[in-house]
Amino acid sequence: MVDDQNLAPVAIDHFPPLGATMAEVEAMLDGLRAQDPDVRRGRFGMFSLRGNADIQDVAHRGYERFFSYNGLFARMLPSIGLMQQELLSGWASLLSTTPECGVLTSGGTDSLFNAVHSIREWAREHRPGVEPEIIAPFSAHASFTKSCHYLGVRLVRVPLDGEYRVDLEAMEAAITDRTVGLIASAPAWPHGVYDPIGKVAALARKRDLWLHVDACVGGCLTPFVRELGYAVPEFAFEHEGVCSVSLDLHKYGYAPKPCSALFYADEERRRYQGFATEEWSNGPYKTDAFVGSRPGGAVAGAWAVMRFLGHEGYLRTAQRTMSVRDQILAAIEQIPELHSVGSELSLVTIGSAELDIKVVGQGLASRGWSLFGVRHPELLHLTCDAVDDELVAEFIADLVDVTGRVSAGELNERGDLRYT
Ligand SMILES: *Cc1c(COP(=O)(O)O)cnc(C)c1O
Repeated sequence: MVDDQNLAPVAIDHFPPLGATMAEVEAMLDGLRAQDPDVRRGRFGMFSLRGNADIQDVAHRGYERFFSYNGLFARMLPSIGLMQQELLSGWASLLSTTPECGVLTSGGTDSLFNAVHSIREWAREHRPGVEPEIIAPFSAHASFTKSCHYLGVRLVRVPLDGEYRVDLEAMEAAITDRTVGLIASAPAWPHGVYDPIGKVAALARKRDLWLHVDACVGGCLTPFVRELGYAVPEFAFEHEGVCSVSLDLHKYGYAPKPCSALFYADEERRRYQGFATEEWSNGPYKTDAFVGSRPGGAVAGAWAVMRFLGHEGYLRTAQRTMSVRDQILAAIEQIPELHSVGSELSLVTIGSAELDIKVVGQGLASRGWSLFGVRHPELLHLTCDAVDDELVAEFIADLVDVTGRVSAGELNERGDLRYT
């Protein structure tokens, strides 16, 4: 196991004096990979969100074709520019906005960082002199805390209600003269539940605040799951008062990493996005988001998957993912010691009132399942993907067996859960 400092044992501690052959390098790469958790059994945790083998192949091939391209130069590279436009048009149409109001970014954190930056810039115009505060549910992603830290914004976190959604009264009570924005998630990563977007949007309208909806994990999946007939809510610009929405194409869009998108309600809001300066030797410098150079391959991979799957393919993949979720939820229901909280979309939590869930987690880890955990409350955390039924059956069999052994006192080792 690699520890938190990533201080894995190394073969050399100096710069290699001589080069190696490609065959030697490949053997070393394979050796490195062999130390990692089982890719297959990691499909409910760290290796999830890849889709099936066909999707992975398409993403890989798209990436490879544009391997050496820099996404920073989209204005000069018609190919990258066009693929970006088509991606924005495609996903914008599912969120009730237009492509002109969107931007591709380098991952969820980049989207959230840019959203917080836009809120701050908007606040500077609309509320000059205010030291800005943003209010977020306790379950909102840690990247909001990070973004606010870097951008000099105060983040105020408010508690959740009994269903792990933001406590609306607490949110309203936390609003002060300095509050400029609100955050809601669709769904939130920890428990997989949707905050009441419509109600938070009404609050934002009433108090003239910028509402950002973080649909990083669910944004590319929710529209298809709703079409399949599952009761998942509208979360984007259908709600008046939603000002911006983030969704990660590199999650349920099945794009290679890093690739995310950030959309605004209108072009007026969109204009706070990005950065331009002429204040250096080269003159004009302009980027759409925070990062400069970024992989053109990720854009091409995202585009290839969108074209390969189309609406029908995403629908089919969503159906598969939800079938995986339903099987696991049904299995948890059959195990008296376990329960699940939240889990409204494809993220499944496993908790226990009687057993120490960290012992169950350790039992599963020792069988090669690399899962994440949630700390508040202590839960196991699974990300369902479009994997085959055989893997689901293997997981369920191990969950039943491990839980039985923990119950019988045969397993006692208490592993620490991985939270990121
Ligand atoms: C994954 C995720 C993020 C952060 O995304 P990265 O791509 O890891 O930077 C933000 N919000 C939610 C809800 C997420 O699931």
